[in-house]
Amino acid sequence: MKQFDFEEERIKQEITKLGAKRVLIQLPEGLKPEGPRLAKIVEKTGALPIVSADPCYGACDLATAEAESIGVNLIIHYGHSKLLRYERVPTIYVEARATVKVDDAVEKALPMLEKWHKIGLTTTVQHVQTLDNVKEILLHAGKTVIIGDAGRLDYPGQVIGCDYSNAKSIAKNVEAFLFVGGGRFHALGVALSTSKPTIVADPYEERAYSVDEEARKILKQRWASIEEAKKAKTFAVLVGLKPGQKRLEEALGIKEKLEKNGKTTHLFTVRDINPEVLMEFPTVDAYVNTACPRVSLDDASKFQKPVLTMTETLVVVGELSWEELCRKGLFES
Ligand code: SF4
Repeated sequence: MKQFDFEEERIKQEITKLGAKRVLIQLPEGLKPEGPRLAKIVEKTGALPIVSADPCYGACDLATAEAESIGVNLIIHYGHSKLLRYERVPTIYVEARATVKVDDAVEKALPMLEKWHKIGLTTTVQHVQTLDNVKEILLHAGKTVIIGDAGRLDYPGQVIGCDYSNAKSIAKNVEAFLFVGGGRFHALGVALSTSKPTIVADPYEERAYSVDEEARKILKQRWASIEEAKKAKTFAVLVGLKPGQKRLEEALGIKEKLEKNGKTTHLFTVRDINPEVLMEFPTVDAYVNTACPRVSLDDASKFQKPVLTMTETLVVVGELSWEELCRKGLFES
């Protein structure tokens, strides 16, 4: 997988420096095939490598409990920037920056940005190093370019599935966004958080496309889910067990609000929210997901019952109007 920098030399040096004897390698889904190769590299340092085969979608899901249970003294977490403030097990983050060139995809996006002058730039951590170059291409095309830096994430312009603060901080000052990266998920998040036209420049597929139509469809689906949830009698509030997804206090607050609105409400803990897990509870009419908002965006159509984000639930209990929700962003807490 030559498209990403796995920083093999740094890894070997850090393991030696820390004297780690047992190392847990944690990779997100797309990078998992590299696990066995990276394990061989770790082995050469004299440490015992163990690859985590469990799903991992973000730095919120650091495999701390797994590492502790098998006596690991170092976690190497790939594909995300640091999110947790403290780690109970020493951890090295390898952001797996993409090495693929973005120029062609950005050039292809230019005609799609033609009617707008002020452009906001966003991306994932894999491509943050390309934003200066992308900015140059846009400036050369006569655009004004703004990159948000709200200070919550590690890099200006960076977005993650539950934090679009960099895009939101500049939304008022731009007419459209250009998202640089693969897949639709983060670009949809930008469109839904800012209500601005959003064009994707995908360097892997070397193409550009708009996500606006899909964002409109998602808005309709979310509205339908909220309306269905308003009719629900029994709710379950899902409390995530992953280190960066645990929001018990917020879950208790939502439970209280639902109960004040006459809804019977339970608290459920869960590691991975998926349709199979939720199908086990036929007496529950709707769920509130306090863990990862990605579930409500990515997998919405797979669930048989509404699975609302915390912000969407505020519409159910009458604290927010639909218009206010759209302005705030459906997936913001
Ligand atoms: S979007 Fe979900 S998986 Fe990604 S960092 Fe946020 S909580 Fe974690």
